[in-house]
Amino acid sequence: MVRIVEGGGDWPGDDPVRIEEIAVFSHPLPVVGGTYRIASGEVDALDSTLVRLTADDGSVGWGETCPVGPTYQPHHALGARAALAELGPALLGADPTHLRGLHRTMDGALAGHRYAKAAVDVAAHDLVARARGVRVADLLGGPLVDSVPSYYATGVGEPDEVAEVAAAKVAAGYRRVQVKIGGRPVEVDVEVVRRVWGRLAGTGARLVVDGNRSLTTADVVRLSQQCRDVPLVLEQPCDSLAEIEAVRDRLAHPVLLDEAGTDLATAVRAAGRGAVDGFAMKVTRIGGLLPMATFRDVCEATSLPHAVDDAWGGDVIAAACVQLASTVSPRLLEGVWIAQPHIAEHLDPDHGPEVVDGRIALPDGPGLGVVPREDLLGVPVVVHG
Ligand SMILES: [Mg+2]
Repeated sequence: MVRIVEGGGDWPGDDPVRIEEIAVFSHPLPVVGGTYRIASGEVDALDSTLVRLTADDGSVGWGETCPVGPTYQPHHALGARAALAELGPALLGADPTHLRGLHRTMDGALAGHRYAKAAVDVAAHDLVARARGVRVADLLGGPLVDSVPSYYATGVGEPDEVAEVAAAKVAAGYRRVQVKIGGRPVEVDVEVVRRVWGRLAGTGARLVVDGNRSLTTADVVRLSQQCRDVPLVLEQPCDSLAEIEAVRDRLAHPVLLDEAGTDLATAVRAAGRGAVDGFAMKVTRIGGLLPMATFRDVCEATSLPHAVDDAWGGDVIAAACVQLASTVSPRLLEGVWIAQPHIAEHLDPDHGPEVVDGRIALPDGPGLGVVPREDLLGVPVVVHG
């Protein structure tokens, strides 16, 4: 007999749980250490959006989304909050424990805008895990490790300056350095790669070179050919997957897809036809932890390495990345980039994730393992319910 269950918890006999309130907060994150420069733009301060879901049984969960400015990809802070305003009425009364159903509810209310829906998805995972007294990683298949490797991403800079930063970060414990390039003559970027590798060779550290969509196909071929002797990995050198595929046969290096891995379908197709050698996936870009867990499984099934990152953000999204990354097969985990080294303070001063000796500990405690202090967060900009 097939029985269709309307609402209710995940277990027979559970009382139904309903979302009673959605509070949306805006929180400024100034960049410490000056302007952060990537090929697609410069940022001095970010505007993070946090979501607090409250269910009618009193359970609470937190989510966050924080685009790294409005030009990194088609996401921006006000867009996230506009999308959440659109989603709010549809989410009231929805069952936060039915995570797939929650996504269907959101998709039924608003097309696209996965980066905004991700904040709700993360909050729902936090709420469910917290209510059950388990970590989010336990919901996602179970952690394999108690800490995950991070990597350091330099901004776009002059060759000697970037090489100095890269060497210092390896000395500080990072085993992977990502160097940002682009937005200038490719000859300068070739020189950056050479100077950086001059400092990293023999240390055991890995080098990734991230063009953030900015290079022409001709320039990425030139860079790759002129650096054939450097065992680097290219990340999103050109704007689109089509451009990357057009030159891949002429590249001397593996290629990771980042910004152009816009959703799960794109990632699955790229993995299926062997279009790239791995991914730098963002939890918010793909729409949250539920699709990210599927993405993780696709990568494991196809032996493709990937990072588990987000574009920017504070303790909540950093914790979400670490929770998921702890469930990734270590042989495939490229690392977890979090913005913490560029942020002055934590919203959860006691438990906020931090990079120590190049690694990030899986937070203790239920849910995400972090809870924003509301006295630091201020009043919500919008409350639904
Ligand atoms: Mg990248």
